[in-house]
Amino acid sequence: MTDAHDALESFRLDGRVAIVTGASSGLGARFARVLHGAGATVVLAARRSGRLEALAGELDGAMPVVCDVSQGADRERLVATTLERHGQVDVLVNNAGVGTPEPAEHETVERFGEVLDVNLIAAFGVAQAVGRRMLEQGSGSIVNVSSILGMVGSQIPFASYAASKGGLIALTRELTAQWARRGVRVNALAPGWFETEMTAEMFADERSMAWVARMAPMGRPGAPHELDGALLFLASDASAYVTGQVLAVDGGWTAV
Ligand code: NAP
Repeated sequence: MTDAHDALESFRLDGRVAIVTGASSGLGARFARVLHGAGATVVLAARRSGRLEALAGELDGAMPVVCDVSQGADRERLVATTLERHGQVDVLVNNAGVGTPEPAEHETVERFGEVLDVNLIAAFGVAQAVGRRMLEQGSGSIVNVSSILGMVGSQIPFASYAASKGGLIALTRELTAQWARRGVRVNALAPGWFETEMTAEMFADERSMAWVARMAPMGRPGAPHELDGALLFLASDASAYVTGQVLAVDGGWTAV
């Protein structure tokens, strides 16, 4: 019989190794701090080495790995370096992402492809490279960082971004179907609006923020710490029987 103490313990990540892509800023840097705070050894991946080194300096035992996730050789090196140093990988937060709004009638097909390259194809590549190792281990948790825009449309013109994030949700379900019996769980986290470099312009624009306040049932965007619990839940044994799910953390945006 599990008691309350065990339930809390199931969120701990002591002895686990977690890779976070896009850890050089925004949500990724926050996710790395949260996993580290729960006891995990974190591997920080992104292109901006200075940012990664600064964060690694703050988190005991953290390892920065410069990695462009859209490059196959970089993805392989990320996993190889992690295994050389730590011998295992237990959690992947597939968080690296790009996107700038542009009306669909103007967005070039080339640009559409570039966004899919990072947000969907590279995310598959990282999940595959890490997943192979997790399948060998017979355990692992992958958290794909999608978006509410992968679930519903919006007045923000974001065709490539929405398509990539919707694709990531379908990929989450398909990897679940293929890997669940072999011990690897795959879930998606779908944040609503959070202030980061990606959304800086939007947060600086009064009309946009009035729109968010009007549209979100809770009447406001998310605060930085409001993804912490959901991320930790999906990454840890607290969600041991949860796979193939999309957890929206959006103040009710996708509920109405
Ligand atoms: P951000 O601050 O711009 O962070 C994006 C991260 O992705 C950066 O660390 C960037 O690092 C990394 N990245 C981009 N291209 C990369 C590449 N080719 N290789 C490796 N890393 C790459 O924005 P954010 O809001 O934190 O976004 C993080 C994730 O959350 C994204 O997937 C985004 O779509 C998702 N999301 C955000 C919100 C929101 O409201 N902020 C809402 C829903 C979903 P480098 O530039 O150093 O490579």
